Parts: sequence; C-alpha cells; structure tokens
Amino acid sequence: MPLIYDLHSHSTASDGVLEPAELVQRARDKGVDVLALTDHDVLDGIAEARAAADRLGVVLVPGVEVSVTWRGRVIHVLGLGVDTMNPPLRQGLEGLAEKRRWRTAELGRRLEELGIDGAAEGAARLTRGRVVSRTHFARYLVEAGYVRDFKAAFKRYLGRGRRAYVSCEWALLEEAVTWIRAAGGQAVIAHPARYRLGRGLFTELLEAFKNAGGTGLEVISSSHSRRENLVMAAQARRYGLLASVGSDFHEPAGSWCELGSVAALPGDCIPIWRDWGLEDMPLRQVAGNEGA
Ligand code: AMP
Ligand code: MN
Ligand code: MN
Ligand code: MN
Repeated sequence: MPLIYDLHSHSTASDGVLEPAELVQRARDKGVDVLALTDHDVLDGIAEARAAADRLGVVLVPGVEVSVTWRGRVIHVLGLGVDTMNPPLRQGLEGLAEKRRWRTAELGRRLEELGIDGAAEGAARLTRGRVVSRTHFARYLVEAGYVRDFKAAFKRYLGRGRRAYVSCEWALLEEAVTWIRAAGGQAVIAHPARYRLGRGLFTELLEAFKNAGGTGLEVISSSHSRRENLVMAAQARRYGLLASVGSDFHEPAGSWCELGSVAALPGDCIPIWRDWGLEDMPLRQVAGNEGA
C-alpha cells in the first residue's frame, strides 16, 4: 500500500483551530501516514505534534510556512523537514513575528478608522498561539457581527487591496530559502496557482527560487483546481522541481479541505519525499512506536 502524504497543515500555533495533538489524531483517523505541520511563521506546535505522532504511529515532518514578499506580492514558502532548533531559522522567524506585531496594530487602526473598534484585541483574543493572522481578524469580524461570514471579511476588509488591507514586507525569497536550508529542510513554493502570476512572472519566480536553493513545488493543493494541479505538475517537470502534496488543512468545518484528501501526484512527477527513505520502512519503526 502506498503511503498517504499530507505535507501542509495548520494548528492553533498559527491560524488552525485544532491543537497540534488533535491535528495529528485527526490525520491518523483520516488515514494519513506522513503529516507535515506547517504553521505560518512559527515552529511552536512541532514538539506537541511530534509527541502525538510517535504515540499514534504517524510520521511527523517538522515544517513551517514562511511569509515572503516578492515583487510586492505575498508568496508562501514551505520548509519541510527543518531542524526546529536551528538558530538562523529561529532568528528569521523571530523577525517575522516582529513584523506581524506591527501589522496587527496597523490593521487594528485601519479597522478603527472604518468604525470597527477593538479588532486587534479581538483577533488576539481568538489566538491560542503567538501568531495573529488575518484569519483571526476575519473570525473576530464574523463573531462581532460586522460581516456575514469569513469570506465576506476578506472580500470587504482584509483581502489584498480591500479597505483595511495592510501591506507588509515579509521575508525576502532568498532569505526564506536560506533559513530553511540552513535548518536542513527542503524549500517548497506553496499553492503556486493561487498567486495568479502571469507566465513571465511565474517563470521569474521559479528561477529566482531555484537560484536561491529551492527544490520543490506544491503541485497538488486544495487551493488548486484539478486543471491547476496538472499545470503545476508540468511546471515542476519543466523546471526540475520536486513535487509536493498538501491539504492546507485549517479546521474541520468550513471551506477548507480535509486532512489527507488530496489528489495523487501524477506518475511523472518526482515526489519531494523521494529520498526520505519512508516507502521501504515499516512505519511503526519510523515513528518509534513498536508494539502500539
Ligand atoms: P496573514 O498571513 O496573516 O496575512 O493571513 C493569511 C491567511 O489568511 C491565509 O493563510 C489564509 O488562512 C487566510 N486567507 C487569506 N486570504 C483568504 C481568503 N480570501 N479567504 C479566506 N481565507 C483567506
Ligand atoms: Mn492560514
Ligand atoms: Mn498559504
Ligand atoms: Mn497554509
């Protein structure tokens, strides 16, 4: 039986709603064998997730989803298999945390100008970790009755170019890839079809990414249509990038995709896990969970 990989997911350490241990339990219930926890700009959930994974016989890939600004656009770069104690990675993410604190305050001010009081505090109250993301602002706006639903929050206020949008200079592409590599990880461009870059810009992004040492493209993503999965499979082949697969799971309800429910990689892609040595090994042994 081929293993089921899901290499993109979120916990309460950033904007997911399940605690890391709950996330791993759910992944196991959904048949996932290999799960990457990739919270936005933090590694805080990894230790708890790893302990749960060892208990349950799931292979936990320590990961992170780094916010990058490239040519004025936000690009997400996944780091897979990172050493969570690595100083350059930790320092880099600390710098992003500082920017996030600034962005939270600024976003709160913008909303206040639009007649919405206490949003920064409200969003912060809805977090259980250190990361305040636009997801928390959206949940606050729904909860406080300013918008009908989550989607409307982004459409009216929080989405790019909308009334309360605050642009922020996140990490440079080269920096993000360098931190990930320093920590022994593989850098992967997350949900590449979501950026709506034209052909020329997309090529430039992939070239800059490869030059910086990036090796992977998230070919299969819940943010992609079936067709986009195939387009990205072709791009991965064309640029010699390894292919990754992720649900980008955030929560059990709502519009996000379920853990593990992602399409299979087209046969002509080289999987990002090619050299991880997992296929040949009994999983219980990998997870150190003999006899459970
Ligand atoms: P941030 O990194 O704080 O700017 O927040 C980005 C997060 O907001 C993403 O990871 C998604 O979880 C969520 N998000 C961004 N755009 C949308 C959208 N249009 N609809 C729903 N969620 C979104
Ligand atoms: Mn998110
Ligand atoms: Mn993302
Ligand atoms: Mn994500």
